[in-house]
Amino acid sequence: MQSTITFGNNKNGIIFNFQLKFVSLQFIYIFSILMKVQKFGGTSVGSAKRMKEVASLINDGNKKIVVLSAMSGTTNTLVEIADYLYKKNPVSANEVINTLETKYNGVIDELYKSADYKDKAKKAIKVNFDTLRSLSKNNFFTVFEEKIALAQGEQMSTAMVNLYLNELGVKSALLPALDYMRIDKNEEPDVAYIREHIAKELAKLPADTVVYITQGYICRNAYNEIDNLKRGGSDYSASLIGAAIGAEEIQIWTDIDGMHNNDPRFVKGTKPVATLHFEEAAELAYFGAKILHPTCILPAKLANIPVRLLNTMDPKAHGTLISNHITEHKIEAVAAKDNITAIKIKSGRMLLAYGFLRKVFDCFETYKTSIDMITTSEVGVSVTIDNTKHLDDIVNELKQFGTVTVEHDMVIICVVGDMNCANVGFQAKIVNALKNIPVRMISYGGSNYNVSFLVGAADKKRALEALSKNLF
Ligand code: ASP
Ligand code: MG
Repeated sequence: MQSTITFGNNKNGIIFNFQLKFVSLQFIYIFSILMKVQKFGGTSVGSAKRMKEVASLINDGNKKIVVLSAMSGTTNTLVEIADYLYKKNPVSANEVINTLETKYNGVIDELYKSADYKDKAKKAIKVNFDTLRSLSKNNFFTVFEEKIALAQGEQMSTAMVNLYLNELGVKSALLPALDYMRIDKNEEPDVAYIREHIAKELAKLPADTVVYITQGYICRNAYNEIDNLKRGGSDYSASLIGAAIGAEEIQIWTDIDGMHNNDPRFVKGTKPVATLHFEEAAELAYFGAKILHPTCILPAKLANIPVRLLNTMDPKAHGTLISNHITEHKIEAVAAKDNITAIKIKSGRMLLAYGFLRKVFDCFETYKTSIDMITTSEVGVSVTIDNTKHLDDIVNELKQFGTVTVEHDMVIICVVGDMNCANVGFQAKIVNALKNIPVRMISYGGSNYNVSFLVGAADKKRALEALSKNLF
């Protein structure tokens, strides 16, 4: 087969003509308009009122994919239900299910105008509650059933918002995540599968659809079972979808106006950061800024699609734009990660020896414990971990190689920005800001984007305040 396809507006508004030979058109789906992906989290769809607000943000006439979390609290409630079922207590599980159903029916009564739509929505969520009840009737409850239970929250929020948009007369349609979102045997996203199947599923929906509503968080695994992208995974969904369709932009909508330059819970007068490089955002997301799930960065970064963090409470605000562009010579933000444990291994034998670090790292690998921060001297090495599940075993093994000391209740303070070594003087500025704080470890040079400090939990607030005062 030979065909000529015209691509409509690409990013630069240029029209391309491609000659495609011997290619079955069936597998080529071209979206003539670049779409945005908009993700709204649990609190943004947490009540009938919030759903209405979200609907008005969605309804701007542009074709888009909307990714929704479950209503806030729902996934936790589903975890609670699963917990009762693991403990073979269906009675309590059913009590929780009934309470949740009452809550949803209340939201539905408030959300829709017409009896017809209230009825449609109640029928839609009844399927999910029936599923939960049927799980509670089984004699067995395993991780498979748990994942089915956890998948119900996003199914309900998307069904409800989709119906609400329909009631308003918006041409919206459900795009079921379980038909395209997939992880492989290593629990990594199956990017090729996602790309192919999301295109197929989009093509199945009416061509005049303006808003495609899909579930965040949920997916299938390599065995086609229902699975998920781990807690908080809706941001990850949005990023994977954006990358799969080559979106114009991925928008993560929350309740604050972007990533702040410091932690507003500890420091007064923090401000949103206008632009961040993906690497800067990754450090901030990992080291404490709760606004964006760290897994969300990589797919968008690789596909070179900007991620914008926006505020549902103040939709006109600029928010934070994350892209592959770096603002030069600028320190952007500070974040802190709590509950850090520091382990110091001191060995006279490290002097001029090789292989010492390998033995130390092997030990952490054996116990699948990842290291966040590391500093070395000629006689020792200090590392930090946040997962202390295997701490005793690790310490036991490390004692073969040197004197081991462990300190709990530490905090990693991470300063991000353009930390290129050519920017003379900025390290001095940062270190100087912390001159009155006992600093346990300093790590610089691991990337061009961050300097990290380890301080005791008691000094966290003081350290964050000092950095804000001196840097911003
Ligand atoms: N509903 C899921 C959770 O609460 C996923 C998400 O909200 O991102 O973890
Ligand atoms: Mg910047």
